[in-house]
Amino acid sequence: MKKKSVVRKRKTSARPATRRKASVSKKPHAPLLAPVRGADRRTVGHVTLEVGRAGAARVKRMTYPPGYRWSKDMKAIVGTALCMHAHVGFLVQGEVHVEYADGCVVEFAAPQVVAIDPGHDAWVVGKQPVVLIEFDFESDTVRRLGMPDAHRHA
Ligand SMILES: [Zn+2]
Repeated sequence: MKKKSVVRKRKTSARPATRRKASVSKKPHAPLLAPVRGADRRTVGHVTLEVGRAGAARVKRMTYPPGYRWSKDMKAIVGTALCMHAHVGFLVQGEVHVEYADGCVVEFAAPQVVAIDPGHDAWVVGKQPVVLIEFDFESDTVRRLGMPDAHRHA
């Protein structure tokens, strides 16, 4: 009998802690920019990449700062005229401007699914960091995601 009443008291005292947790989670961007648990984290050309494995795929959170532009920040590191990666994923925050070699322009604004063909320049629009969740298969990304190997018109 006495033990049961002690248990009840503990349950009652745990309630305020639950309320505090709920109010913390209302901060809109806290989990969006906090370090990804269990992911490999590195920064290349001002872009923060956090990479985790899921089956045969990689899941990446890419964070691009305001002012970022591929041709300014990444081109010299990568050594190609344009970004030759396909990007498939979900834009969680921010706006991205994409330009292909033939002059085609695509604008993305969160929340939005993103599919960008290889052969592009891209930059962050506005003052918010861009947060993009991407899926890839490393060197086999284009084939396994069914993306074109370059931007072209049918
Ligand atoms: Zn085009």
